[in-house]
Amino acid sequence: MKEVKSKDSKLNLVLLGAPGAGKGTQARLLCDAINIQHISTGDIFRKHIAGNTELGIQVKEYLDNGLLVPDSVTIEIVKLRLSECKQGFVLDGFPRTVLQAQALDELVNIDSVINISVSIDKLASRLALRRVCHCGKTFTAPNLDVKSIQCVCGGKAVQREDDKQAIVKRISVYQSDTAPLIEFYQKQGKLFTVDGMQSIELVHQSLYSKLFG
Ligand code: AMP
Repeated sequence: MKEVKSKDSKLNLVLLGAPGAGKGTQARLLCDAINIQHISTGDIFRKHIAGNTELGIQVKEYLDNGLLVPDSVTIEIVKLRLSECKQGFVLDGFPRTVLQAQALDELVNIDSVINISVSIDKLASRLALRRVCHCGKTFTAPNLDVKSIQCVCGGKAVQREDDKQAIVKRISVYQSDTAPLIEFYQKQGKLFTVDGMQSIELVHQSLYSKLFG
């Protein structure tokens, strides 16, 4: 992977893509490469659920069932997190609705939106094989019987609760609510697409070269 520092002091990016497209993995690689902050609404919600906070209790059912957390709740969470980001950011998993995208436009200027494109019929199997460590690192299990994978951090990567049961629902919510954002950002002239079916490293490289030439 290329290791370079951001040329811009403040680069505000959005990663779009279906569940399982590789947004989290690519967001982490990009943040390491250009030293900006990773904002994952899914990670924020999961942390609250694990901590049994008031917000966690409020959103748990949505996540378990593959439904979107209401826009009003999600936008407030992002607003708070954005106020802490002075060095630029990659948004991963937000926006997921046109209403969220409109709210985001009122909060901050987005420089570029990267759409990671993956064939829809590959998503279910990718999600079923995904194992995630608490450190954020993601692995692909060789088969469905492999329940956990030893992570380099010493932790164990396991299956996310919503990867066990809500896969089909999440893909259909993506198609109905989130896919329209492709056109939304195309109209703004901010969107470019990378082929998410390539290896992790190649996706990172094409994403990087589209951003920085
Ligand atoms: P993710 O980790 O991005 O796959 O998100 C996991 C789950 O968190 C989603 O299936 C939703 O239930 C919830 N979630 C994450 N981001 C959003 C968002 N922008 N709007 C609504 N719900 C979200």
